[in-house]
Amino acid sequence: MKYINDELWKKQISQKDWYLRLDPEFKRLENIQKDLSKEDEEELKEEIYSSIERDLGNGSIQPNKKYHDWDDERKTIDTIVIHHTSNDKSLTLSRLNAKHMFRLYRPFFTNPNEDNKAIKGEAISSGHFTNGVQIFYGYHWLVRLDGTPERLLTDNYVGWHAGNWDINTRSVAICIDGNFETSSPDIKVLKSISQLIKDNYKNVPIENILGHNEVNKNTVCPGNGFIGGWKLTLINLIKKNISSSSPFTYKQTSNS
Ligand SMILES: [Zn+2]
Repeated sequence: MKYINDELWKKQISQKDWYLRLDPEFKRLENIQKDLSKEDEEELKEEIYSSIERDLGNGSIQPNKKYHDWDDERKTIDTIVIHHTSNDKSLTLSRLNAKHMFRLYRPFFTNPNEDNKAIKGEAISSGHFTNGVQIFYGYHWLVRLDGTPERLLTDNYVGWHAGNWDINTRSVAICIDGNFETSSPDIKVLKSISQLIKDNYKNVPIENILGHNEVNKNTVCPGNGFIGGWKLTLINLIKKNISSSSPFTYKQTSNS
């Protein structure tokens, strides 16, 4: 490893409170990161996420047996939040899982709010499982660039995605697998999202289909071209898709 102190990492990672033991190391890496070029910064992140991925996969990072979950705060879904991964390359699910464990759950367990202060020092848990394995995804769906949607979290799970707990409790997160900071997703991706919404979330009002940057001003996600740009394309596709699916839609015919 070029940036990570390997010896320290290996010594601490199998402790249930590894994230507290390694917190000074994470702070050191954060400081280094500030002065790195974009390319080196990516390399540093790659080191961290690949190490977390490896140690989740091989069981070095302990699962939490008396897991906590926050899903009893789940409300009726009335909002859809659109994201992008902001990754130039496509992400494997296990890498995304590791990234979200590190970026979403680790900071919360390191500095929990007053209501959750008892979790500090315990093994990190999400309370979310697929086939008995704990998962840390923040999104409910990941849409690949060929338009294929992949289910990450079931809808009864609160996804930790918006940076806004109230929104999290009543929303689903749909993420596009790419970086659209300065570009727009292909029409087949938008068509796939509109189909996904038609099939699963027909009751969510159109005006509650929002970009991450519309519910959290601190992010450009899902990209600078969303508001006033490809959001309109997406909304039009959804409107067209949903109205064409209704058996009660009045269709003008040439005879009438
Ligand atoms: Zn986002």
